[in-house]
Amino acid sequence: MSPRPDLGPKPRLGYTASVLDRAAERRTEPAALGALASDPRAGVYVIGGEMVVLKKGSPTSAPLFAPAEAHALSPAGELIFLGLFEGRGRFAVACDAITVEGLKARDDLIITDLRTIAIKELVEAHHLPPIAEGKALLHWHARHRFCSNCGAATNIVDGGWRRDCPACKVQHFPRTDPVVIMLPIAGDRCVLGRSYRFQGSMWSCLAGFMEPGEAIEDAVRRETREEAGITCGRVSYFATQPWPFPTSLMIGCHAEALSHDIVIDRTELEDARWFTREEVTQMLLRQHPQGLTTPPPVAIAYHIIRAWVEEEIDLA
Ligand SMILES: [Zn+2]
Repeated sequence: MSPRPDLGPKPRLGYTASVLDRAAERRTEPAALGALASDPRAGVYVIGGEMVVLKKGSPTSAPLFAPAEAHALSPAGELIFLGLFEGRGRFAVACDAITVEGLKARDDLIITDLRTIAIKELVEAHHLPPIAEGKALLHWHARHRFCSNCGAATNIVDGGWRRDCPACKVQHFPRTDPVVIMLPIAGDRCVLGRSYRFQGSMWSCLAGFMEPGEAIEDAVRRETREEAGITCGRVSYFATQPWPFPTSLMIGCHAEALSHDIVIDRTELEDARWFTREEVTQMLLRQHPQGLTTPPPVAIAYHIIRAWVEEEIDLA
């Protein structure tokens, strides 16, 4: 084994460690929610699909609007309750595509997507988890306006944490889609892949949606075999990250690679190959001679890869 490099302080994993108290008990109290929502000290994120509306500022922009400001920006948007911060309500309001387009003409606003906001650090980092929460929840509402059981229009209840069908009485709850994201490792080498949608020279972990009736470890082994033809043995859990594109939960793992030959599924991956720890270190430090990189620190892939470079992974 080569000596472990020192990569400096660990950056924060994006969209995690929310400062909000979700205060689930308030969701079922319409009067309390109404009072929180009408308090001018409440904060509202204005979100239109992938786009987030920011008040232009320097060095960071402000993603929070007072309730009256948010209502003026998106008069017809449904308001959902995200939680409490220092006793005040924090909400998100939906903004439809036409309204978002109209707002782009304003000099005092920045309208951009959440990935850009996170990577370019356009807002203070503590806003990322509640924006992720709001974006994922609003995405679910936008696609669940009708009952999946009987087809009737559903109603929003509990501050946005449930939709009820008035016809068949079924209750619908917001969903999160688990995704396994893993680094197959063998001694001083690991496997990274390139998706067709990756920009530049970025390489990352393999990943895929979990399927019903599947354990995390089995999903890691299946996806690694399907995408790269590598057989894996032991799997160790690393960490999770909410990934609101649109409603995923990334479950980060390291996996013991038992086979060597890579067989790429070209429908999923543009490329996949083995990398040495030395090469991956250069990629993490943005010092690779061919300009290859890992994903940025906002993504869990960066942290999964970095942990393997810096630490001994316990594949128990
Ligand atoms: Zn129904």
